[in-house]
Amino acid sequence: MTTTTHATTRSQALWTEAQTLIPGGVNSPVRAFKSVGAEPIFIARAEGATLWDVDGNRYVDYIGSWGPMILGHGHPAVRAALHAAVDGGTSYGAPSAGEVELARLITRIYPAIEQVRLVNSGTEATMSALRLARAATGREKIVKYVGCYHGHADMLLVQAGSGVATLGLPDSPGVTPGAVANTLTLPFNDGEALEALFQAEGDRIAAVIVEPVVGNAGTLLPEPGYLEQLREVTRRHGALLIFDEVMTGFRVALGGAQERFGIVPDLTCLGKIVGGGVPVGAYGGRRDLMSWVAPAGPMYQAGTLSGNPLATAAGIATLTELLAPGVYERLEATAAELVAGLAERARAAGVTVTINRVGSMFTVFFHPGPVMDWDTASKSDREAFGRFFRAMLAAGVYWPPSQFEAAFVSLAHGPEEIARTLSAAEQAFRAV
Ligand code: PMP
Repeated sequence: MTTTTHATTRSQALWTEAQTLIPGGVNSPVRAFKSVGAEPIFIARAEGATLWDVDGNRYVDYIGSWGPMILGHGHPAVRAALHAAVDGGTSYGAPSAGEVELARLITRIYPAIEQVRLVNSGTEATMSALRLARAATGREKIVKYVGCYHGHADMLLVQAGSGVATLGLPDSPGVTPGAVANTLTLPFNDGEALEALFQAEGDRIAAVIVEPVVGNAGTLLPEPGYLEQLREVTRRHGALLIFDEVMTGFRVALGGAQERFGIVPDLTCLGKIVGGGVPVGAYGGRRDLMSWVAPAGPMYQAGTLSGNPLATAAGIATLTELLAPGVYERLEATAAELVAGLAERARAAGVTVTINRVGSMFTVFFHPGPVMDWDTASKSDREAFGRFFRAMLAAGVYWPPSQFEAAFVSLAHGPEEIARTLSAAEQAFRAV
C-alpha cells in the first residue's frame, strides 16, 4: 500500500542539521528540492524500484540515482560482485583485471569506442574528452548546447541545464571570463544556427559536445536529421563530435544514442550506468585520438581511484545483466505503458502536458508543446510542476525534483509500481 500519512519527522531533523554542516544541506544541488517548494527526505534504504526514507515511508523511485540504477536497486548480481570486490581490497592504485574486462565490454558494446579511459565521474569524462579534442586538433574553441549539462567544469558552465537551470543561475561566480572565452553555444535542433556558427568559426572549433538525447533540460529528442547534420558539419570543418552519453549510454539503447540513431561520434563520454551505482565515468573513441592520452601520448589525465575494483565490479555486473536478450524491449514496454497512463490521467484532470520519451527516460513538461529545445522547455509551468511533484511525493512516488530533469524507469518497475504511480498521478494532476 502507498503510504499517504507521510510523517517526515526524522528527515526534518536531519535536514535541519545538514544545513548547518553541508552547504545548502546537500552534496549536489537539485537534491535540495528548492525549485519544487519542498524539503528533501533522507533515504535509509533502497531495493528494486522502492526507496524507504528514515521515517519508514516508501516511494516508487523514478530517479534511480539520476540514471545509474537501470537494473533496480540492490540487484543480486551487483551486490554479489561488490561483496567479492570488497573482500579482495577496495583500491590498489595499480592495474587490475577488472579494468581490462570493463574496457572489453565497453568497446564491444560501443564500436565507435576503440580505446577507453576510466575516470570517476561524468564531469571528469567530459573535461578530459574536451582537453583531448583540443590537443588532437590544435584548436581552442568548443561548442556546447543551451540547456545541455556536462558536469561542472568551468568551461562548460555556460547556459547549462540540470541544477544550473533549476536554480536559475545564469552562470556561476568563480568561473572567470577567460575560462569560458572559448566556449560557444548553440540552440538544440536548430540546423541554421549550426551552419552559421561553423561558417563563422569552423576552422577554430576543436569539438562540439552534445547530449544526443538531451536529459538535462528535461528530455528533448533530436529532430529527424539533426544529428546527421551535426555529424556532417563537424566532419566537413575538421572538428570532433563528442557525444556526452553519460545519461543516454546503456539507457536509450544498450549502445546508447549512437546505436539508436546510427551516428558515429569521434569521442564518447560515459558515466552513471557504466558504474552500476558506484562512482565511475569513462571517455573513449577512435584509437588515433585516444593515443594522445598519457602515457600513450602527451595529453595529461590521471586519477588515484580510477578503475578501482569496486567500480569495475559494479560496472561489469551491471553491463553483463544488460546484455541479456529482451532487456531493452522490457524497459521500452514498461515506460511506454507508464507514459500512456500518465497522459491519460493528465487529460482526465484537464491538465495540459507534453511528455517526451526515448526508451526508459522521459519528462512530463507542463507545457502544451512541442518541447524541442531549451527555449520551449523553459516556458513550462514550473509552479504546476511543483504542485504535481509535492502531491506525488505525498502519495509515495519519488519524481525528479525539477521540471528540467528526466525520470527513469528501471527493470525493477513492474505492474504493481506502474499501478501505484498512476493512481498517485490521478490525484496529483488534480492537485495541479
Ligand atoms: N553529462 C551528463 C549528460 C550528465 O547528465 C551529467 C550528470 N547528470 C554529467 C555529465 C556529469 O556527471 P557527474 O555528475 O557524474 O559528474
